Amino acid sequence: MDVTHIIDSLNDAQRNAVTAPVKNLLVLAGAGSGKTRVLVHRIAWLIQTEGISPYSIMAVTFTNKAAKEMRGRIEELLGLNPQGMWVGTFHGLAHRLLRAHWQDAGLPENFQIMDSDDQLRLIKRLAKEMGLDDKRWPPRQFQWYINDKKDNGLRAKNIEPRHDLNDRQMVAMYEAYEQACERGGMIDFGELLLRSLELFRDKNPALLEHYQERFRYILVDEFQDTNTIQYGWLQLLCGGQQKLMAVGDDDQSIYGWRGAKIENIQNLSTHFPGVETIKLEQNYRSTETILRAANEVIRNNQGRLGKELHTESGEGDPISLYAAFNEQDEARFIVDQIGKWSQEGNLRKECAILYRSNAQSRVLEEALIRSGVPYRIYGGQRFYERLEIKNALSYLRLMNNRDDDTSMERVINVPTRGIGTRTIEIIREHARSQGISMWRASNEIVELKRLPARASNALQAFLDLINQMAQDTEDTLLHEQTEHVIQHSGLIEHHKKEKGEKAQSRIENLEELVTAAKQFNSQWDEFLDEEFSSPLAAFLDQAALDAGDAQADEYQDSVQLMTLHSAKGLEFPQVFLAGVEEGLFPHKMSIEEPGRLEEERRLCYVGITRAMQKLFITYAESRRLHGQDTYNRPSRFISEIPSELMEEVRLNASVSRPMTSRYNDNQGSSLFGSSSLGSSEVPETNLALGSRVMHSKFGEGTVLNFEGSGAKARVQVNFDYEGPKWLVVGFANLTPL
Ligand code: ATP
Ligand code: MG
Repeated sequence: MDVTHIIDSLNDAQRNAVTAPVKNLLVLAGAGSGKTRVLVHRIAWLIQTEGISPYSIMAVTFTNKAAKEMRGRIEELLGLNPQGMWVGTFHGLAHRLLRAHWQDAGLPENFQIMDSDDQLRLIKRLAKEMGLDDKRWPPRQFQWYINDKKDNGLRAKNIEPRHDLNDRQMVAMYEAYEQACERGGMIDFGELLLRSLELFRDKNPALLEHYQERFRYILVDEFQDTNTIQYGWLQLLCGGQQKLMAVGDDDQSIYGWRGAKIENIQNLSTHFPGVETIKLEQNYRSTETILRAANEVIRNNQGRLGKELHTESGEGDPISLYAAFNEQDEARFIVDQIGKWSQEGNLRKECAILYRSNAQSRVLEEALIRSGVPYRIYGGQRFYERLEIKNALSYLRLMNNRDDDTSMERVINVPTRGIGTRTIEIIREHARSQGISMWRASNEIVELKRLPARASNALQAFLDLINQMAQDTEDTLLHEQTEHVIQHSGLIEHHKKEKGEKAQSRIENLEELVTAAKQFNSQWDEFLDEEFSSPLAAFLDQAALDAGDAQADEYQDSVQLMTLHSAKGLEFPQVFLAGVEEGLFPHKMSIEEPGRLEEERRLCYVGITRAMQKLFITYAESRRLHGQDTYNRPSRFISEIPSELMEEVRLNASVSRPMTSRYNDNQGSSLFGSSSLGSSEVPETNLALGSRVMHSKFGEGTVLNFEGSGAKARVQVNFDYEGPKWLVVGFANLTPL
């Protein structure tokens, strides 16, 4: 059989890894050295030359997107679909197991996945029931606590609370939370792993044996970011046999804050027999300049496993460093550079803007919008997390499982249908005292005539609506069902009544959901397995699990925006690292602690090594973030890059620091505070482009544009919740923030 195409495009070290005899292998190598490539080619090799059935292979990736790509690349190499192979994230694979063995796992057949937003809602509700003040007991703290315990394999009953009140309260919440999830048939992300681990270890060891037999080859990408429970899960599945291939880079471990343990790499040889380590030393991604900068930065960390990387791709351009006046100027600079790039005939999607914190994206987004540049955010407000989509899905969830309290809470009075907070409280109270779901409680309350007639009728109407919709869509296709729900639940009408662009985009999103359901339905046969009771159940799970792949503009040529964390494993010809300032990156919470500072440095290493041809680093001398002006020094990471690798960009002074107003300048390049303005063209206002303002009705927003002068002067403000609006300056009564 001809396998040259599988091994031809590999260097010697990569080929050794791909064709190694089956045993426990660790491929330890720096960024861009072809670790992911090795994994893909190894799978193709096993299937093609060793005659291994895809059925006995499991591959673990870090994101759902990476899983799809991996499957695609294997298919390309083999010329056929590796059917029967399991590829996915730890969560995705654990989920699959639980769907197949829900009974053994002690779950109801229609159990549903909660995302972190659902989880927080539930915790808030429980905290309220427990009479906890949310200032003293912030719900997020409970959420963090519960997730952390689960990631470490601990249930409430395994925790011996210390004597302090705080600890006891945390455990009490964990217990209440577990019960509520049990009652509603809901499981969170951490539970997926914990539950499947318990299923194997405690509940059904025979099942474990079955899967140990089945999966004779287990391959894991981004191994440096596995946490305790994921590691334990792998250990169980490997069962002391020789079948693991883990690839990773200790310098890219960036999820320590979420429980990932870099030590898992070091410990591998202790827990898995006969591990052979293979190193890859050539980088194929970046220019020499970029690679050297990355190596110099990461050298400042202690206790590294130590790896060498070289490249043959030539010196390339120097790294451009831009000191922006403020965050608006920084955004403008980046947008201009992207403009140049695309004028030179390149694609915008080859550019990525990476930043440390999500909150930084807003200013960048606004600059892109102003210039009409399409962009795409990874891991931001994802499609399935948008309010209107969550509402529609909650109706579907409730129809699928009436005991789903979280969904019930979400839609019982959306759109408003006369079920007030008092009624909802009575339902909650009854549910709690009887230990039943809110749905059942509602039925009982209506029967027992516990409510005034009007409230009772409203509630009955809601119960009827859900039953009726479920009945009407019983034999329809998934997208028809979705469409029916959007129409009959009143959601479309509800948003039509709202005004402004936001409402329009909500309606479009709901329509997009029907499209998504349609697409899902057509993939359903090939894509999913017997484990799901219905396409709806599978669709709802995917919506909860999916990492935001469903953005509408996937095929448009758009600039890519994402946090440094979400950029892991990806590569782009041109990369901008924005906001490289002390306090922001490294983040101020991490500066004091050496361990966390090193994690920030690894994050910087990840950021730099995403760039293939050209890297820009920008920082702002003053920055308004979370409503406060800060003046930060350039990040220490910049000074760790040898200066001969960098060139400072100096724009023509009138552009970077103009001393007069540019309000009427369509370049929009002057974006600073009112104090430096003084031109007669300026409308009579003390507002500046890019400044934050408050309007009594529309709330907070950012000044985008001005038009006209004197009494006719108008200002365009992009309001955070209402979107962009033109207002007459004289009447708008905007307060600068
Ligand atoms: P990261 O640590 O960032 O995840 P990685 O080690 O997984 O990186 P890959 O993404 O697999 O690296 O490879 C980096 C780039 O180099 C990819 O574009 C890949 O196609 C290319 N590449 C890897 N090995 C070779 C090779 N032998 N010949 C040509 N290109 C290669
Ligand atoms: Mg990789």
